[in-house]
Amino acid sequence: MILMAGASLAPLSRPAQSQEGLPVEQYQPKSMLHNRETSVSRARYPVIDFHTHITGVGGLGGPGQIRFAATAEECLAVMDRKNLRTMVDVTGGYGDNLRTAIAKLQTPHPARFVVFTEPAWGKTADPGYPKIQADLIEDAHRAGAKGLKVLKVLGLFLRENVTAGRLVRIDDARFDPMWEAVGALQMPVAIHISDPEAFFLPIDRYNERWEELHAHPDWSFHGKDFPSNRELQEARRNVMRRHPKTQFVCLHVADAEDLDYVSECLNSHPNMNVDIAARIGELGRQPRAARRFIEKYQDRVLFGTDASFGRSTPQQIFVDALYEIYFRFLETEDEYFPYVPSAVPPQGRWNIYGLGLPDQVLRKVYSGNAARLLGWTA
Ligand SMILES: [Zn+2]
Repeated sequence: MILMAGASLAPLSRPAQSQEGLPVEQYQPKSMLHNRETSVSRARYPVIDFHTHITGVGGLGGPGQIRFAATAEECLAVMDRKNLRTMVDVTGGYGDNLRTAIAKLQTPHPARFVVFTEPAWGKTADPGYPKIQADLIEDAHRAGAKGLKVLKVLGLFLRENVTAGRLVRIDDARFDPMWEAVGALQMPVAIHISDPEAFFLPIDRYNERWEELHAHPDWSFHGKDFPSNRELQEARRNVMRRHPKTQFVCLHVADAEDLDYVSECLNSHPNMNVDIAARIGELGRQPRAARRFIEKYQDRVLFGTDASFGRSTPQQIFVDALYEIYFRFLETEDEYFPYVPSAVPPQGRWNIYGLGLPDQVLRKVYSGNAARLLGWTA
C-alpha cells in the first residue's frame, strides 16, 4: 500500500494489481464480522448536548457579524426526533452578537437552547483589558448568557498584539478577572485547549492522523513556536487551581488519548469536568478503559458532540446519524462499528465498541451533570 494525498475516493472498478499498490485513500475494507447492529434512533433518556455551534462569530481581530448556521426550527426538528432536550450553543460571541443569538434561540425556547458568551479576543491587547473583560462577562450574564466558551484561540492562536507577537499563555494573569467573574456568576466555562496528540507530531508515516492532517494541514501544531500538548494542559491546570470556585468543562475529554493523565487532573481539580465531544473515536477504541473512566467520574462527564452546521468534517455535521452513533456507543454493547457517519473514518482508520453504560450513569452523562452545572434541577 502507498500513501498518496488527494487521490479520489471513488471505489475501484477493477481489482488493483498488486504490483501497482493501492492508495490508502481508496481502501475501504468491509468488515466481515457478523455482529449485532443495534439501531438507536432516540436516546433512552432526554439529552443535553453541551457542545454545539449553531452560531459563530469567528475572527481574532474583532467581533465579526454573528452567523447562524440554522434556525431554531431547523434544530428543533432534529432534536425532537433524537430526544435532545436542549442544545448549548457555545459560540455566541458578546455584546450585540450575543444578544442576537439569545433573541433568536434562547428567548423563544428557553428550555431548548442555551447560549454561551465568548471573550473579546480583539481587545486583549488594550490597556485595561482585564476589567473590560470582567465587565463584558457581567453584561453577558445580564443579557442571559449561561456560560463562557473559550476556543483553542487561547494558547494556540492569540498573540500579544492579537495577531502578532508571542503566543499568549492560557494562564496569563490578564484573564484572572474573567475567570473570577464567571465563577461568581455561576457560569460554567467550556474550554477547548490543545488538540489530539498526533497534531503536535510530524506528519509522517507514523502519524495515526496522517489522512486527517493532509486534509487539514492547518490543524497541525507541530514545530514553529507552538507549545507542546502537555504544556497547554498544564497551563490550563494552573487556571483551574487558581480559580477553584469556577467550574470548568474541559472539552473533548481534555486529552482522550491519555485517560490516566485526565484522571490525575480530575483527581487534583474538583472544579474540572469533561465532555466527550468528537472523541468517541478515541474512547470507543479503548472501551474497557473508557467505561471504567466514565463510571468513576460519572458525576463529571457531559454529553457533547461539537455538532456544527455547514461543516465539512463528518464528525461535526449536525444530522440524525451523528446522534445515533453517539447513542449506540453509550447505550449498547455493539462491537466494531464506525464512529462517524462517513464512508472513510475521518480521524483515523479504526472502528469503535459500545460501552453499554448502566442507566444511572447514562442519565447523568446525558443530562444530569450538564443540568447541575447550568443551575437547573435535573
Ligand atoms: Zn467545538
